Amino acid sequence: MTVITRFAPSPTGFLHIGGARTALFNWCYSKKMGGKFLLRIEDTDKERSTQAAIDAIFRDLKWLGIDWDGDAIYQSSRAARHAEVAQDLVKKGKAYFCYCSQEELEAMRAEAQAKGEQPRYNRMWRDRDPATAPAGVKPVIRIKAPLDGETVIDDAVQGRVTVPNSQLDDFILLRSDGSPTYMHAVVVDDADMGITHVVRGDDHLNNAFRQKVIFDAMGVPCPTFAHIPLIHGADGAKLSKRHGAQSVGEFKDMGYLPEAVCNYLLRLGWSHGDDELFTKEQAAQWFELGDINAGPSRLDMKKLDHVNTHYLRLAEDERLAAEILARHPELKIDDEHRIRLAAGMHDLKARAATLIQLAAEAKFYLVDEVAYDEKASAALHDHDAHNAMHHIYDALARLGADFKEAAIDTAVRKIAADHYEGKLAKVMMPLRASLTGSTSSPPILKAAEILGQAETMKRIKAALHWMHDHGHHHH
Ligand code: GLU
Repeated sequence: MTVITRFAPSPTGFLHIGGARTALFNWCYSKKMGGKFLLRIEDTDKERSTQAAIDAIFRDLKWLGIDWDGDAIYQSSRAARHAEVAQDLVKKGKAYFCYCSQEELEAMRAEAQAKGEQPRYNRMWRDRDPATAPAGVKPVIRIKAPLDGETVIDDAVQGRVTVPNSQLDDFILLRSDGSPTYMHAVVVDDADMGITHVVRGDDHLNNAFRQKVIFDAMGVPCPTFAHIPLIHGADGAKLSKRHGAQSVGEFKDMGYLPEAVCNYLLRLGWSHGDDELFTKEQAAQWFELGDINAGPSRLDMKKLDHVNTHYLRLAEDERLAAEILARHPELKIDDEHRIRLAAGMHDLKARAATLIQLAAEAKFYLVDEVAYDEKASAALHDHDAHNAMHHIYDALARLGADFKEAAIDTAVRKIAADHYEGKLAKVMMPLRASLTGSTSSPPILKAAEILGQAETMKRIKAALHWMHDHGHHHH
C-alpha cells in the first residue's frame, strides 16, 4: 500500500502555525513511508474563502520548504463529483432524499428541547416513499446512519475512541441547492485522492465518526486517523490572538528562519529521543505517528529563539546579508558597506537570536554616521570618556598599516594601564559607543579592524565633537 497523506487547509485566513505543523507531520510521514503528500484547498465556503488566504498558504508552505505532489486540488472544483456520490448513495440505499420543511425541522428542535434532549433530525423520510414527496420542494440528501451499535475509530494518536451510533443522526450530505456539506466533500475527496492517513488537528476528531459513516456507506476503506492535539500558548490556554504571533507569516516577519520554524514545530508535539535540533529531512527519516504526543503542547518562544540562534549560525553569510539589507530599505548601501558586512558576519551571526536582532546589530556597518542610543550616550557622558577617546585617537592614528585587531588591542590595553589602573572598560565602552552607537555589539576591536582606520578615526572624531557639543571637555 502506498501511503498518501494530505494537508487540507480552509483558506479563510492566514496559515496558522498549527496548520503548518499539521502539514509538516503529513509531509514527514509520507516521506518516511515513500508515499505521497497532497495539498487540497478546502474552499467550499465561498463566503469565507479568499484568494489572499490561498496565496498565503502557497507562499508560506513554499517558504517553509514543504512541497506537495502534483497540483493543489481545489475542493470547490469538485462539487459535481460530490453531488454524484450523494446521488449514487441514494441509489444504493445508503442515503435518501429528505423533504422536510424548515417548520418541521424547527418543530423537531423544539420538541427535543422540551424533553431536554439534543436536537436531532427524527429520520422521518428515511423509510418513506419518495412518491409521497410534497410538490415543488427540493430535497436534501441524508445519510442512513447506523441505528444501533457503535462507531469505533482506532486513532494513531488518541487510541481507540468510540461513539454510540444513537448519537449520530442522519446528517445531510447534499443541500437542497445541490451543494455538498463540508463533511461529505472531505470524505469524497479523501476517497478519490486515495488518502490512506489523515493527520490533522484534534478539533476534527468529532467529525471523524461521521466521516467514517460516509466511508462505510461508500464502501471505501476508511483512512487511518491521527488526531494531533492543538498548540497551546505558554499559559496553557488554546493559542489565540492574545498570545501574539500565530501565523507563519508573522514568524517570518519576526525574523525566524524557515528551517528553524520547521525544526521547532516538528519538535512541538513530536519527539525522537532527546533530539532537539534536526532538519525536516532528518525528521522524515525518523517519523512515526506513534511518536506524536497525545497531550497538548505549549508554544515556547525562548525555545524557538534558541533553535533559531542555532540555524542563524549555520546560515550562509550571503543569505544573511540579503536578509539584513532587506530589513534596511532606508539605507543607501554601497560596496564598502557590503564588504564590511561580509567581513563582520561571522561575529554578528554568532550573537543574534532573530534576523531582526541581526539586522539591528549589523546596522553600524551600513551607515556613514552613527546615532547613539541612550546607553551609548550615557557611556559617552562618563567623566573619563572624553580623555579616553583622545588617547585612543592618538594611539590608533599611530598604528598606520598595522590596523589589525591585535595591534588595536595592544594599544587599548596600554591606554588602560597608563591612565585607568588597567580598567579596560574605561577605554572600550566609549570606543564601542562611538563606533556602533550602542553598548552591545560584536567584539569591538575586530569591528574596528573591519571598519578600517579611516572610518574608525572618523567615528572617534565624531564622538569627540558630540561630547564637546554636549558639554564635555578635558579635565
Ligand atoms: N479544512 C480543515 C481545516 O482547515 C481540515 C479538514 C481535514 O483535515 O480533514 O481545519
